[in-house]
Amino acid sequence: MLPWHPSPNPSRKGRGDEFGAGSDGATDLHDPNEGVSNGMTRISREALRGKAQTVTGLVDPATLGPTLMHEHLQIDLNPPRLRATAVSDEPDLDPCACFQIRWGGTYSRRNFELDEVRLATEEMARLREAGGRTLVELTVGGLKPKPAALVEISKASGVAVVMGCGHYVEEYQDPDNAFRDAEDFAREIVDQVRVGAWGTDIRAGIIGEIGCQAPWTRQERNVMRGALLAQAETGAALNVHPGRDADQPQEVAAFARAAGAPMDRVIISHIDRTIFDADRLLRLADTGVVVEFDLFGWEQTNYFPNPDIDMPNDGVRLRWLRLLIEHGHLDRVLMSSDICERSRLCRYGGHGYRHILGNVAPLMLRRRFSQDEIDTILVRNPARLLTFV
Ligand SMILES: [Zn+2]
Repeated sequence: MLPWHPSPNPSRKGRGDEFGAGSDGATDLHDPNEGVSNGMTRISREALRGKAQTVTGLVDPATLGPTLMHEHLQIDLNPPRLRATAVSDEPDLDPCACFQIRWGGTYSRRNFELDEVRLATEEMARLREAGGRTLVELTVGGLKPKPAALVEISKASGVAVVMGCGHYVEEYQDPDNAFRDAEDFAREIVDQVRVGAWGTDIRAGIIGEIGCQAPWTRQERNVMRGALLAQAETGAALNVHPGRDADQPQEVAAFARAAGAPMDRVIISHIDRTIFDADRLLRLADTGVVVEFDLFGWEQTNYFPNPDIDMPNDGVRLRWLRLLIEHGHLDRVLMSSDICERSRLCRYGGHGYRHILGNVAPLMLRRRFSQDEIDTILVRNPARLLTFV
């Protein structure tokens, strides 16, 4: 779900529309050395192809193992307008108060900040104990991404981390993004994959989560168009955070299709808080996109970003997955828990990153998912998507 640091080198251009301001629509993403600082190198498309790219380097996708496809290890989800006014000396969370915080009845700024390497490492060790081997970290522009911390956490925990790139929803973005066009966003994202992200030489292995709202803003469409151009240029998979409207995933899928995107490499996140009827769900899957249920562990009804919906529990999420499998969509479903709040970590009495492997996978066996289906959702689909093409 779910704020960041300015790109080191976005060029300031005039306001462009989402299909590019250039007179002939041509893009030049190919200059091999443009914008590469001393000591940084640009990895080639050929070197990426067939590999997955973790924060510590390229790996054989067959080694990724059980993978969480949408999580956050370091994030500040507080909207920028609240970050400025919030009390800075708020005490740490009291685990005994977590239900009230989780329900959304008590606003805690601290709840929406994950900023400790040691805490994240402990939580990742629990994931590893439960069988997890790879975690995809989608903290992008606006959410305060910290690539170097991800490297530390990955090395200390023994869990591989694949980092995302791009920008979250407009409210969180650098105000200067309003003056950038799709090609400029594309160049930035390509560099984040091939050179390094957020001022470091640590490279992203997936694009997104790209933030969209309903209604979809012009600036967000520009970022999405840039992400789609960068996908074509790099061969990475693309993860989309759709707006909180049941028809927005379909709108995004249509936009991706019109841009000629490889639909089986476009992941629509947060389906569990967005779509609540079988017709829409199946229509979306029929477009060929990958459908991600990534709020596993969110078990209470109230979803404070949109109190008008009933958040499903894990059992209901599994029924939606079963419906998708019965309609032939096993190869385009994903599961994750999108942890972006302290109260969901084990230390504060929450379910932690370990929940899907430790609790939900055994429940799936009881609910008559086959081991092969579980392996497809937790291992094979992630490995396919994380492999550069
Ligand atoms: Zn997220």
